[in-house]
Amino acid sequence: MKLVRYGAPGVERPGIWLEATAQEPARIADVRGTSFDIEDYDARFWRTFGVERLRGLLTETNLKTIPAEGIRLGPPVAPPRQIICLGKNYRDHAEEFDAQVPAAPVYFSKSPGSLSGAQDAIRLQPGMERVDAEVELALVIGTRACGVSEADALAHVAGYTVFNDVTDRDLQQARLQWFLGKSANGFGPMGPWLVTPDDLPDPHELGIRQRLNGDVLQESNTARMIFRIDQVIADLSRVLTLEPGDVISTGTPGGIGSARRPPRLLRGGDVVECEIDGIGILRNIVEAIAPYVDGAGARVRTVLKTQAKQENR
Ligand code: MG
Repeated sequence: MKLVRYGAPGVERPGIWLEATAQEPARIADVRGTSFDIEDYDARFWRTFGVERLRGLLTETNLKTIPAEGIRLGPPVAPPRQIICLGKNYRDHAEEFDAQVPAAPVYFSKSPGSLSGAQDAIRLQPGMERVDAEVELALVIGTRACGVSEADALAHVAGYTVFNDVTDRDLQQARLQWFLGKSANGFGPMGPWLVTPDDLPDPHELGIRQRLNGDVLQESNTARMIFRIDQVIADLSRVLTLEPGDVISTGTPGGIGSARRPPRLLRGGDVVECEIDGIGILRNIVEAIAPYVDGAGARVRTVLKTQAKQENR
């Protein structure tokens, strides 16, 4: 099943994506309008209702649907408590980033406020000159996970989706922690839907790729993750409790634009496509809030480096 959230930013409604058939184009089942008690795909939904309830809705005779054409899809989960990301979880990306392949998972967090929809614009703020896209497989926790074993871990996953961990490399490198460089508004396109595990039996054999203006920058397979999803959930849940609705993003493969020679950095007007086989495609246009001015980023970098030096003192 494909769970979507649709409508204007901040007021999305929960829905179920109904694929096009020979007879009619794709539609969206209006979950709130049919069930009345499901507000959103939030922690309460996963704790109280879950996917089985949605399966029941699909068989109801009063199921309300709308044509999907022209409807904005938001992130497929309600604003989560937390987004936990893995850094350097593909060997080729670790090598291009700083040549250090981690011996244990590298975690960082990204602001939940960075989340955006599958076709929303990625907006570059003035001075953001070295911004990269990172295609990643993300998962949403469906049931509380505390001290779970690797063998039981995948049973706690509600579904899988495509995530673009957009990153300002200057900010990432200028600060000791990556949080700020990862958390700008709209730097987390997610979707287009959450695919439930019954439709994606093995999350570790999926082709994964990123295209920038049609050129393939990243091309890999989730089989090449260093730390697999079951290991990651077990590792995290030994220390902290994962709650329904929490998002974990599993890291990006090699090929990112900033590591290329010459670099391929995001510029206004670019089209970024992040794709995972068996899930779908994010297609986001890049918008520059201010016109790109050559050298402006260098000035920002100088300021950031000075600040970083002062912080490190
Ligand atoms: Mg990443």
